[in-house]
Amino acid sequence: MTPFTYARAADPASALAAASAGARYLGGGTNLVDLMRETIERPAALVDVTSLSAEITETAEGGVLIGAAARNTAIAEHRLIRTRYPALSRAIVAGASPQIRNMATAAGNLLQRTRCAYFYDDEGSACNKRRPGQGCDAIDGFHRMHAILGASDDCIATHPSDMCVPLAALDAIVHLHGRDGERTLPLTGFHRLPGDRPDIETELRPGELITAIELPASPLAARSTYRKVRDRASYAFALVSVAAALEVEDGRVKDVRLALGGVAHKPWRAEKAEAALRGQPANHAAFLAAADAELADARPLRDNGFKVELARRTIAAVLGELAGEVA
Ligand code: SF4
Repeated sequence: MTPFTYARAADPASALAAASAGARYLGGGTNLVDLMRETIERPAALVDVTSLSAEITETAEGGVLIGAAARNTAIAEHRLIRTRYPALSRAIVAGASPQIRNMATAAGNLLQRTRCAYFYDDEGSACNKRRPGQGCDAIDGFHRMHAILGASDDCIATHPSDMCVPLAALDAIVHLHGRDGERTLPLTGFHRLPGDRPDIETELRPGELITAIELPASPLAARSTYRKVRDRASYAFALVSVAAALEVEDGRVKDVRLALGGVAHKPWRAEKAEAALRGQPANHAAFLAAADAELADARPLRDNGFKVELARRTIAAVLGELAGEVA
C-alpha cells in the first residue's frame, strides 16, 4: 500500500477544503481501502467524512433524506425505508455481508468501482479504466459477469451496487456540495456509461462531496421490490437484478418503475420497458413484451448472452409478483 495521510472532517467545509488540497474522501472504506491495498488507487491523503450527516429523516414533501454517511444497515432497517421504499431495504440486504453493510455508507455505495477482475489485475492485464488507452482484456477474455447494455469498445464493466438499482427505479436525487455551492443530480444522471473514457465514472466535479440522497414521496414506491439473481445465495454480485414498483388499476398497468442491475456500467433505468407497459394488461405476456422492448438493445458477448434471457425472465417474474400473479 502506498503511504497516505489521514484526517477527519468535522463539517462539509473542512471536507471540501481537504479535497481542494488533493485529499480523497473516505467513507466506510469497504471498497476504497481494498483498491488501495491492491495499489489500484494511490491517494496521498484521505479525509474521513463519516462524521458528517448520517441521519435519515422525512422531508417536508413526504419523502426521505438519507445522510451521506448513513450506514447501509441503518438504511435497510429504518422504518421509513422498510415501509415506504421496501425495494431499497431489500436491495441493501441482498448486498455484501452484514459486516460490510455495517461499515459501508450511502455515499460510498454510489461510488463503488467495478469488480471486473482485469481492473484489479494491475500487473498482468490491460484495462482502459485503470489506464486510458491501454486496452480492455475483458472483451476477449472471461466476461461472463460483464455488461450487455450500454457498453463500449473500450469497457464492458458493470456497476456492482445493489442499492443503486432501486434508487434509479425510485427517482432518487443526489445532493452535492462543491466549491461552486450546492446542487442536485438525479441518480439516473449521476453515473456515466463508459464511452471512450471508462475511467470517468460519475458526473461529480473535482472535489465535490455527496451530502445526501433523497427519495421523493411516491405512493408507488411502497409497492416496490428487488430481486437479485447470483451464483451464490449470499456474498456474490448480481448476474442480473431487478428493482420494480407497479400500480395496477382495473387489470391494467397504471404506472410502473423498473431498473436493472448487473447489466451495465451504471444502474440501468428501463424506461423503454416502462413506456411499453403503461396502459397494458397486467399479465405475464405484457411483462415479457416490456422486457423485450428494453432488451432489444442488448449486445451480449461470447460468455454473457445468458444474461439477456435471465433479465427477461426476472423482469417478468418480479412484475408478476407485484401484480399478484400466481407463478
Ligand atoms: Fe477495464 Fe472495463 Fe475492460 Fe474491465 S471491462 S478490463 S474495467 S476496461
